[in-house]
Amino acid sequence: MKTSLYKNQNYEQLNDWSKLNFTHPKLGKVVGKIFLREDLGLSGMEVSLNSLPEGVALPFSHAHKQNEELYLFLSGAGEMLIDGERIKVQSGSAVRISPQAFRTLRALNQGALNFIVIQVKEKSLEQASLDDGIMANEQPNWH
Ligand code: ZN
Repeated sequence: MKTSLYKNQNYEQLNDWSKLNFTHPKLGKVVGKIFLREDLGLSGMEVSLNSLPEGVALPFSHAHKQNEELYLFLSGAGEMLIDGERIKVQSGSAVRISPQAFRTLRALNQGALNFIVIQVKEKSLEQASLDDGIMANEQPNWH
């Protein structure tokens, strides 16, 4: 078993993302969010799991220096404000945002807004999907 080639982290709280938390260097304890990069040893992306309670708006907007972000919404409904443009989001929405765009988010009163954010350096991907995949010669062995 080549265990050095992968890392698995079990999060007991993943069935309720509202209990996730981490300590932000400036904001202190932040509830409803966790970053996976350090725990999983991700080397080319940052990923966060997020849960925003219904009716709650983030109290700030932010942009990035070099990373684009993909927001994948899994449940609830909300609105994003991206450089002043209001966008409706809901379960199933996927939104890509350029680094320099200022963004914020609020959850509507339709349950917690659960979403994943994937952050990666803009224009860094050299190949993907079928161009990057390598098929094994052997059939999978589940025994
Ligand atoms: Zn961000």
